[in-house]
Amino acid sequence: MLTGTTLTRFRKNLLAWYAEFQRDLPWRHTKDAYRIWLSEIMLQQTRVAAVVPYYERFLQYFPNVKTLAEAPEQEVLRLWAGLGYYSRARNLQKAAQQIVTRHDSRFPETAAKALELSGVGSYTAAAILSIAYGKKLAVLDGNVARVIARLSAIRGDLRTGSRWQELQKAADELLAPNTPGDWNQAMMELGATICTPRSPQCLLCPVAKFCEARKLGLADVIPEKRSKRDTVEITLAALVLVDPDGRTLLLPPPRAAENKHTEPDVAALLSGMWHFPTIQVRRDAVKELRALVSKWNPSGQKLRAELQPLPPARHAVTYRQITVLPFRLELAELPRIEHAKPLPLDELSAVPISNLTRKVARAALLPQTTTGKNARAATASLGF
Ligand code: SF4
Repeated sequence: MLTGTTLTRFRKNLLAWYAEFQRDLPWRHTKDAYRIWLSEIMLQQTRVAAVVPYYERFLQYFPNVKTLAEAPEQEVLRLWAGLGYYSRARNLQKAAQQIVTRHDSRFPETAAKALELSGVGSYTAAAILSIAYGKKLAVLDGNVARVIARLSAIRGDLRTGSRWQELQKAADELLAPNTPGDWNQAMMELGATICTPRSPQCLLCPVAKFCEARKLGLADVIPEKRSKRDTVEITLAALVLVDPDGRTLLLPPPRAAENKHTEPDVAALLSGMWHFPTIQVRRDAVKELRALVSKWNPSGQKLRAELQPLPPARHAVTYRQITVLPFRLELAELPRIEHAKPLPLDELSAVPISNLTRKVARAALLPQTTTGKNARAATASLGF
């Protein structure tokens, strides 16, 4: 990597560019470790534009680590609903409780202590400690790894164990020791806005003259693509029960002790949130839903209701491509299902729900879906 005066010039160019061109983001106006930590967790696998409104709303409800630690988990999940990867929210709250009990409500200042907190790995610890406390710790995430790989024209899969370690070593050597927080953010900003995965904008790059990949004409081919895991297609069917007052029934989070209705395979896809009664479709969605409904009608009361198919909702969770076939079932009265919650169909946000459930609810609220030709044609009758 770079050394001596070349390294000094490299740092100067990048920091000057960052000072002038950095995006104005709410977490860049603070040195509060709690706020920086929250932004780092929310930004994992999530776009900046999607995070900003969640970040601001979350802080209105939980302005400090203590309020987060003491909040009901369901409230934390409700404010996280829509951001995805809900284990982040659970770990965040767990870590907040650890900070309150073990560290007197202050985010710890050493990497060793920070790494003991739930959901905090080496990247997150380095980011928080460098930005909030000025610790000399270099971050290495996908953006920084790509920048370093291009600067040094490193070929091959960057995520292999030894190569990742080499990249971390290079990141440590490049770190500007007097301004580690700004330095880390500048490297990440360069990767996010200029040295992007596809079509890097080398003509606008503040460190182009130091870049080996550019000199060799390899900027577009480094890093090499990783071989992707095959996509697995999963089909679920969700039942949207609706009574004459427009109320529906949601089941509790699948891992909750009181939920005995959701199969474990399906539960794993529902993000631990409130959800419509949902099954995995093996052969015939209507027949399988009919079997589910009959379980809730032990007295066998003779009601006839129509299962109306709604537009499918699609959702991707890592390598899984999920298609949900929602069916609306209008009833004179909602069945009594233990621990299920009756809620107005257009006000489900009163409890934490995932994007998937939101998509199904939206489909169920579309007026044409209940009267459309296709819906009528495919209507199935339930002995309920
Ligand atoms: Fe990335 Fe191009 Fe800058 Fe090299 S010159 S660091 S490839 S943007």
